[in-house]
Amino acid sequence: MNGLSAFRETFAGDVVLPGDPGYDGARAVWNKVFDRRPAVVVRPVDADDVADALRFAREQELLVAVRCGGHSIPGLSTCDDGIVIDLSAMRGATADPVRRTAQVNGGALLAELDEAAQAHGLVCPVGVVSHTGVAGLTLGGGMGRLQRKHGLTIDNLVSVELVTADGRRVRASEDEEPELFWGMRGAGPNFGIVTAFEYRLHPLDHAITFGTVAHPLARARELAGLFRELAEKGPNELFLSFGTARERTGHDAYAFLTVLHSGQPEQALRELADVRAFGPPVRDSIRAMPHLAAQHLNDETQDWGHRFYMKSAFMPAFPDEAVDLCAEHASRAPVGADCEFSVWAWGRAIAEVPEDATAFTGREAAVWLAAEALWDDEALDEQCRSWGRDALADLAPFASSGRYVNDVAEVGANVARTVYGDAKYERLLALKREWDPDNVFRLNQNVQP
Ligand SMILES: Cc1cc2nc3c(=O)[nH]c(=O)nc-3n(C[C@H](O)[C@H](O)[C@H](O)COP(=O)(O)OP(=O)(O)OC[C@H]3O[C@@H](n4cnc5c(N)ncnc54)[C@H](O)[C@@H]3O)c2cc1C
Repeated sequence: MNGLSAFRETFAGDVVLPGDPGYDGARAVWNKVFDRRPAVVVRPVDADDVADALRFAREQELLVAVRCGGHSIPGLSTCDDGIVIDLSAMRGATADPVRRTAQVNGGALLAELDEAAQAHGLVCPVGVVSHTGVAGLTLGGGMGRLQRKHGLTIDNLVSVELVTADGRRVRASEDEEPELFWGMRGAGPNFGIVTAFEYRLHPLDHAITFGTVAHPLARARELAGLFRELAEKGPNELFLSFGTARERTGHDAYAFLTVLHSGQPEQALRELADVRAFGPPVRDSIRAMPHLAAQHLNDETQDWGHRFYMKSAFMPAFPDEAVDLCAEHASRAPVGADCEFSVWAWGRAIAEVPEDATAFTGREAAVWLAAEALWDDEALDEQCRSWGRDALADLAPFASSGRYVNDVAEVGANVARTVYGDAKYERLLALKREWDPDNVFRLNQNVQP
């Protein structure tokens, strides 16, 4: 590669090339379906290094992939023959207990933000697997178990610092480049490489109550009824997710209800009484625990190195007919794969933010529903993808418009328009033409200038 030795002279971070001992580790991403071979992986150590890597990539006309946690479902943080700008040497998060804010570097993982905030009895609403990247999660929206109380992750974003396609360092917030800040909150990877985030934090200094009750599939409708009732009447502190699942062993599918109550444990005990009274569960893991413990509980089952597919939708309601479809499709999940439907109660703090306040689309939904499959045998790839696609095709009559960009496993020319809808897409297009007219940042759900 021409210019590589000159680049190495100014670039402070690691440069990993095919044939180097660390190359296979450096090119791996979370979803094992994607086995790409980039021409080079670079690990900048600061924003100047990011700008240097970007300048080099543009001089060499290399396809640019940007990576934080590497958890992109469609494998968008890697590529064949291009450059991966991997921010894993730019981790780290700190919290300011007086201002109740957190400063987070562009390569940080959720665990770092969680730990920095909880050290002061504070919290930022983020996702549910702690090894997910802060950047990818935030720039698409950020759903999590505190969302009904504190909104999406982007609803708590104060500012971002980014390196733009032309190498400029830009800060965006409600006051600085507000239109860019609008686009960063939902379509962020299109506009630059974020090197720093600032978030608002909220007090959470007591144990939360978290866990799942599982019941036979035959009770799915009744359990979904309880889910709907609690979602309607329960407090904002109550996160709820209904689901149906079948594990890879192929044993009977079951229905489940997962709750996280972020109020005081005594209040949670009272307000979760109906969950306990529902009848003898097949399994019950609901108990009080530190918030950080809950944030790590899914880390192992969702560890690196598995194959994964998901398809999701927003819905204005979750009627019994949709429950039946979740039960039926869970029962026919491919043996050898862990498959589940997950239906999250939406609304409250999410819906308090006007739909057009951010690029994120889907605030008005009553629920978010996803079919997810995790497996290891490559031979099951097509079966698992078809399972998810077929299920969502059957559920399509119940869906509303808009999709959560971070869940979209497909990539292609028109995908971003289906995510954001026509009006927001046009607004994003104007931003893209201003900030990245050459489409340097195209490995994302792309707004094509
Ligand atoms: C196990 C698992 C659990 C998940 N749980 C949740 C959840 O609870 N809630 C939720 O909302 N989502 C969840 N997701 C979806 C997740 O939000 C997305 O996969 C997200 O893109 C992952 O971010 P990342 O930084 O790890 O990914 P990466 O693969 O590193 O990046 C994803 C996208 O962001 C871009 N990008 C990465 N870093 C930067 C940066 N610094 N600046 C600009 N662009 C950048 C990449 O180019 C790519 O397009 C989960 C995904 C997985 C695999």
